[in-house]
Amino acid sequence: SPVGRLPLIAGNWKLNLDHLQAIAFVQKLAWSLKDASHSYSDVEVAIFPPFTDLRSVQTLVSADKLELAYGAQDVSAHDSGAYTGEISGAFLAKLDCAYVIIGHSERRTLHNETDEVVATKVSAALKHGLVPVLCVGETAEDLEKFGPSAVPVAQLKAALAGVPATANIVVAYEPVWAIGSGKAATPEQAEAVCAALRAELNTTLGADAAAATRILYGGSVKAANIASFMREPNVDGALVGGASLDLDEFSAIVRYKK
Ligand code: PGA
Repeated sequence: SPVGRLPLIAGNWKLNLDHLQAIAFVQKLAWSLKDASHSYSDVEVAIFPPFTDLRSVQTLVSADKLELAYGAQDVSAHDSGAYTGEISGAFLAKLDCAYVIIGHSERRTLHNETDEVVATKVSAALKHGLVPVLCVGETAEDLEKFGPSAVPVAQLKAALAGVPATANIVVAYEPVWAIGSGKAATPEQAEAVCAALRAELNTTLGADAAAATRILYGGSVKAANIASFMREPNVDGALVGGASLDLDEFSAIVRYKK
């Protein structure tokens, strides 16, 4: 990005790798990235393992002083109480999570997370000092009916209700039709929607927030296409699913050639 936003390459592991596999993977990843420290030092790398891995990842990252950020894939809208199965932002903060993914399309679809729920979770994350990685994106049907940016922009607008202008957030544009499909958006498509999202940030939070907020593209990102997305002025990184589970592929994505 031309305006000094630190690029972020984020790996969303989804429901993959238990805590023992996570330890092995993070050790290898750290080794692989260290080799390339000169070429990747201007990129931030974050991984999003399952909840049960986070304590192990914390221990490893702090013991070996790894330059690797991490976060959870979801957070409860609540702080504590009778919410069986939920994990609070306070617990994630205690595990030194920097980030939390909120509103991933799989949670919107499979767990019926509405824009209102997503907005509440964004507020909960900020309250506990976590940076929300807010996911927005349209389905193939939305794209046909409403065009490329209407749905993602509306989702962003809804999620920003109650977010102060000074909040540190990350936005991830993930067209649902591109997730896990092997059919990534074109860089031009990604840029057009990311520019529209930045315009919405400008309207809702102001010029400073719009200039500072990182907007990622996600959906079938791999080593072969990462550079084409990173060349776009409004794309500040990537949210990577499948390819983040392949050590060589993920390392190559982090080391994309400018
Ligand atoms: P994908 O997933 O890279 O496997 O398409 C991206 C995501 O769901 O975050």
